Amino acid sequence: MLQDKDRMFTNLYGFEPFNLDAAKKRGDWRDTKEIMAKGRDWIIEEMKTSGLRGRGGAGFPTGLKWSFMPKEVTDRPHYLVINADESEPGTCKDREIMRHDPHKLVEGALLASFAMQSHHAFIYIRGEFVHEGTELVRAIEEAREAGLIGKNACGSGWDFDITLHRGAGAYICGEETALLESLEGKKGQPRNKPPFPAMAGLYSCPTTINNVETIAAVPEILKRGGEWFSKLGKDEKNSGTKLFCISGHVNSPCVVEEEMGIRMKDLIETHAGGVRGGWDNLKAVIPGGSSCPLLPAEICDTVLMDFDSLREVNSGLGTAGLIVMDKSTDIIYAIARLSKFYMHESCGQCTPCREGTGWMWRVMTRLVKGDATLDEIDMLLDITKEVEGHTICALGDAAAWPIQGLMRHFRDEVEERILAYRKIAKAA
Ligand code: SF4
Repeated sequence: MLQDKDRMFTNLYGFEPFNLDAAKKRGDWRDTKEIMAKGRDWIIEEMKTSGLRGRGGAGFPTGLKWSFMPKEVTDRPHYLVINADESEPGTCKDREIMRHDPHKLVEGALLASFAMQSHHAFIYIRGEFVHEGTELVRAIEEAREAGLIGKNACGSGWDFDITLHRGAGAYICGEETALLESLEGKKGQPRNKPPFPAMAGLYSCPTTINNVETIAAVPEILKRGGEWFSKLGKDEKNSGTKLFCISGHVNSPCVVEEEMGIRMKDLIETHAGGVRGGWDNLKAVIPGGSSCPLLPAEICDTVLMDFDSLREVNSGLGTAGLIVMDKSTDIIYAIARLSKFYMHESCGQCTPCREGTGWMWRVMTRLVKGDATLDEIDMLLDITKEVEGHTICALGDAAAWPIQGLMRHFRDEVEERILAYRKIAKAA
């Protein structure tokens, strides 16, 4: 369990004001100039030592990602883009940072940008986050007025500014290259890779895209040292602390900072008041936002909440958005609802996703009633395999995985429903 002394997000619940004075009392903007004076290479090495992996879902090592940026700035400026689109169902952590601790994000943006030789960062925030966007603008203005960003930021000699850009609410704009397209004023559709953004990103310039939680963690890591962060968590590949969002059939839904690798059962029972009706009433948990395959109760008993442990049980940490479902849940309907979501959010650019997501949803809709044949289960799984890994972006995978998880763990229930439907239909 995480001790209070190791907590990074100390105003997660907004018990204190978010403004600059209060943020400084919590330690924000302390030693920022001194950290910059240590140089870019030191910052990137320290991030590598910390083992921090991207908190937006993919889990790519942050320091390594930063090191992909060109060493020299040529005629094309470098950019940092911060993904504040947070659209994955079940995920609501970044909004808490932006609401209550925005100075961590602003300070982190300066340090990350300096390390990557960027004079300008863009924050792409989902349009529905009106309140969070307003707080963030205020924090940026406060920092600018205090000389913490702008010309000669923090007296470091580095000029730096931030632009906040509001999206229009498309899930796909959370995909990094679709986000860049949208930021450029185009239709939000993912790009083919390569080229990767570090070579040709925003306006075809070298760009790094990081999630809000990742960037907001940077100042504390650099102040306390990468080694401090690397010692928290399960091991060096699953290090540090993480914000977990727990929703669904729990007594006290919450967002909480905990150590990476905490047992799922402890996380839910300690912080979310336990499963409605008790732990034995648990049916399944989606552990990392809607795209991650669900896990049945028997796996939830022992599984650890980190990248590698969840991959070993054929799921993923994703955004660490846990959706808890008790035994009252119609699990087939729950997954069918997700199929509808992904069909709706497909940008339609590639055929397997455009056609496959609709096909999957139509079969799932019939499975909810049981109006199908038993061999359609395997046909549906075949469709998921045809979509998975055959698309431009990961939305195709995200649509396929929940269905694969359903069939892996609850195929009996799907078959029972089909047989029950056929019995009733025969009798009628
Ligand atoms: Fe668009 Fe889907 Fe293809 Fe992604 S996988 S580019 S969302 S059609």
